[in-house]
Amino acid sequence: MYDVIVVGAGHAGCEAAAAAAQMGRSTLLITMNLAATAQMSCNPAMGGVAKGQIVREIDALGGLSGIVTDHTMIQFRMLNRKKGPAMWSPRAQSDRLRFAETWRLLLERLPKLDFRQETVTGLCIVNDGGRRRVTGVYTGLGRKIEARTVILTNGTFLNGKIHVGEKNFSGGRSGEKAAHGLTEQLVEAGFVSGRMKTGTPPRIDGRSIDYSRLEVQAGEEPPGKFSFTDTPPLTHQIPCHIAYTNAAVHAILEEGFEASPMFSGRIQGAGPRYCPSIEDKIVRFADKDRHQLFVEPEGRNTIEVYLNGFSSSLPEDVQERALRKIEGFENAKLFRPGYAIEYDYFPPHQLHLSLETRRVENLFFAGQINGTTGYEEAAAQGIVAGINAALKVQDRPPLVLGRDQAYIGVLIDDLIHKSTDEPYRMFTSRAEYRIMLRQDNADMRLTELSYRLGLADETRYQALEEKKRECQRLENRLKTVFFTPEEINPLLESWGESPVREKTSADRLLVRPNVSLEKLRTLSATLDEYCRRQDVAESVEIAVKYAGYVEKEAEMAAKIKRLEDVALPENFNYHAVGSLSNEAKQKLTQIKPRSLGQAARISGIRPADISVLMVYIGR
Ligand SMILES: Cc1cc2nc3c(=O)[nH]c(=O)nc-3n(C[C@H](O)[C@H](O)[C@H](O)COP(=O)(O)OP(=O)(O)OC[C@H]3O[C@@H](n4cnc5c(N)ncnc54)[C@H](O)[C@@H]3O)c2cc1C
Repeated sequence: MYDVIVVGAGHAGCEAAAAAAQMGRSTLLITMNLAATAQMSCNPAMGGVAKGQIVREIDALGGLSGIVTDHTMIQFRMLNRKKGPAMWSPRAQSDRLRFAETWRLLLERLPKLDFRQETVTGLCIVNDGGRRRVTGVYTGLGRKIEARTVILTNGTFLNGKIHVGEKNFSGGRSGEKAAHGLTEQLVEAGFVSGRMKTGTPPRIDGRSIDYSRLEVQAGEEPPGKFSFTDTPPLTHQIPCHIAYTNAAVHAILEEGFEASPMFSGRIQGAGPRYCPSIEDKIVRFADKDRHQLFVEPEGRNTIEVYLNGFSSSLPEDVQERALRKIEGFENAKLFRPGYAIEYDYFPPHQLHLSLETRRVENLFFAGQINGTTGYEEAAAQGIVAGINAALKVQDRPPLVLGRDQAYIGVLIDDLIHKSTDEPYRMFTSRAEYRIMLRQDNADMRLTELSYRLGLADETRYQALEEKKRECQRLENRLKTVFFTPEEINPLLESWGESPVREKTSADRLLVRPNVSLEKLRTLSATLDEYCRRQDVAESVEIAVKYAGYVEKEAEMAAKIKRLEDVALPENFNYHAVGSLSNEAKQKLTQIKPRSLGQAARISGIRPADISVLMVYIGR
């Protein structure tokens, strides 16, 4: 009898298992192929816009994705540096093989975690006086393994079907079997399932690419990192390259449209709108005569190369011929063609905010099974499901992160209250409090919370306390270092800022857009001493510069929170409230929000509907 069984060792499953085991729960990670633990199914990269913030948050909570990324990255860049710090997003090019290997090694160090390589074909579900409850899993070899909670993280494997041109076959990922039986059992238990699709580009033999004809994209120096722990800095970066499609490439791809599973209707599921295939891009952006492609190494010691932006499910010969029309790829050899995959998912309105299913108690879903796309989104749900399964076993209330606390809170809140019928990925624009939810302050937002839950360890907590003290000392110092008009005005003028009339403190100067801490510290030895820690200097500078905006967001969050405090009973009869719109009645009945605040965020619910509910509840 385990406390927690996690099905699937993808990004969601690994984080879920690590969290539950680190919280002291006896945990079993059961997966089809242990050699494919934490496999990067698609691009060898972690982070990116909004996703980088998520990895930092997972790390701040005590998860392992950031640590694994730091140990195995081959290139680091902070995206959106030219925009405000709310948009800064770390991204790493990973070594695919080492990423998977490092995950496995870290998991194997957890004494509370057991492993089993097998396929789960069914769930043990009992009926306790009308309440369904999961009590374990059945495996393909006919074993029953019991557990108090089960977390399903099946990714793209549920009834997965792979398409390459007119060929299609059952599979969960290239070279791996699909999982059958679970969808059918869950649908029989009353769950609604849907179908989605995603795709991946061809992998190429790097020796066959003429790099001299491509643009170089180097990493940032000095490189940053993801984890707030003392992971080693990246020392030897490997460049990526940029290539472009052209009219000849497009013409060849168009020849294959007739055989395309997407255009012929053989694929029914909705695909990731923001990560379209190359054939999709040619059709949707017909006015563009070229598309940018990123040529990304798959690792430090391999010749395999990933062609980001050239995802395709056209026939292999079409992919190969089109590829060879790209400058620098005239002699390109394929390792394997791109393909599309269709799979089952479960619309996430069927979950509580804890990621436990509403229909079957103690059963949790996390990752792509909930209609998301991306490693980071999957890992984020994994750690939350792992924490909540562990808390459930201990009869403790679940962890529900607010939209003003974390991107992870936004992600789960969106999933549960808006559900999704196309692959959901995170963007900064989805977060209304994004000046508060920055990558630099994820530890300040989340580590203490996780420590209190029993996940983040003492070392992390002490490191946070030390950082807080250092930040406070620098903030105080900024208030006491003054510059006279004589010494600062010539510089202000050269930076494009208006002069000051009297002695001005460093914190007041720092609010100005063209004044940076980097510049000020060169003028004051005391200030320079307090800025030694790069992370502290960055956090304090952002906090000072954006204090006004942060305050406004906090006020707004407090206002919305007041709506969150107005509870809605789970079995409230919305159809009995005459003045609600029909759409509101239908969505509220389906989604069953727990509070007025949550009801207000459901798409299609208008402010007028909320006013009606307020009056009704008030009564
Ligand atoms: C072809 C392809 C293209 C993709 N393209 C993109 C993209 O362009 N952009 C993007 O952001 N993301 C993309 N992804 C998605 C990305 O890989 C996933 O979002 C992410 O890996 C999901 O993580 P997960 O943990 O939910 O599932 P996965 O990483 O898929 O892991 C699922 C795990 O569960 C195991 N498993 C499944 N069923 C069972 C069972 N019954 N019993 C035991 N074990 C089981 C599997 O073996 C696997 O280890 C793509 C994925 C694929 C396959």
